[in-house]
Amino acid sequence: LGPPALEALQPDDVRALLPRPGPDAQKYTRGVVGVRAGSGTYPGAALLAVSGAGCGLVGMVRYLGPEHIADTVRTAHPEVVGAGRVQAWVVGPGGGDDAGSMLAEARADGVPVVVDADALRHVDAPMPGCVLTPHAGELAAMTGVERAEIEADPLHHAREAARRWDCVVLLKGHHTLVADPAGRVRVTTTGVPWLATAGAGDVLAGLVGALLAAGLEPYDAASVGSWVHGAAATEASAGGPLTAGGVAVQIPRLVRATLNPS
Ligand code: AMP
Ligand code: MG
Repeated sequence: LGPPALEALQPDDVRALLPRPGPDAQKYTRGVVGVRAGSGTYPGAALLAVSGAGCGLVGMVRYLGPEHIADTVRTAHPEVVGAGRVQAWVVGPGGGDDAGSMLAEARADGVPVVVDADALRHVDAPMPGCVLTPHAGELAAMTGVERAEIEADPLHHAREAARRWDCVVLLKGHHTLVADPAGRVRVTTTGVPWLATAGAGDVLAGLVGALLAAGLEPYDAASVGSWVHGAAATEASAGGPLTAGGVAVQIPRLVRATLNPS
């Protein structure tokens, strides 16, 4: 790989890339995203991933998981439906011991997959068309490289991971890096340190999955998702604390402001 060309998306870039329904839009043509997440120990991760996926950028969100979690998801998000065809999967948040089978089932569908959290431990082959969303600790567990070493040179390790798994790697942190197998890297700086809170990454995984289902290329879905997630967090924070759910609530407003600059 040659020297990285580090890019940062600008609001105009994001505006051009965000999906916008045309007059002939139908819920199926806008994209359907599926979420496989949550377990007895971490039911809330399923809700947060669904809330990121259901931020209004796709026509439909499906949830597949344990029935007691599906009940809770449907109560919190009545628009969410069950099994059926999807254009992208989000797999792993709170998945615990079920994450391996969640990933295998999603992969069997042949559509792009956002692989997050517990599912990352089960990535053992190239994943073309997919997006991996580790933080430095998760990338360390995937590669055997020390976490401190990754944090010392995240650009190198994000690019290496993208090449190794032949897919887009979104390495989360204070500044988030999105690397593709060709060696391109985009950096996202729209977030705030208040985002370092449980569940924030689950919302991001859902959002990136929605953008994939809406038809964005994996590199664009990951970098636009990261940009919107960070900017929504900065709005939700307004200089103070935020919750992961509060970030998800902010996403439609942030998208509206980005699509309609004053
Ligand atoms: P996760 O670790 O999966 O919950 O994801 C955490 C989210 O918070 C990711 O979107 C990170 O980029 C973001 N984040 C974590 N720490 C910081 C930080 N110090 N500054 C800005 N964003 C952060
Ligand atoms: Mg996480």
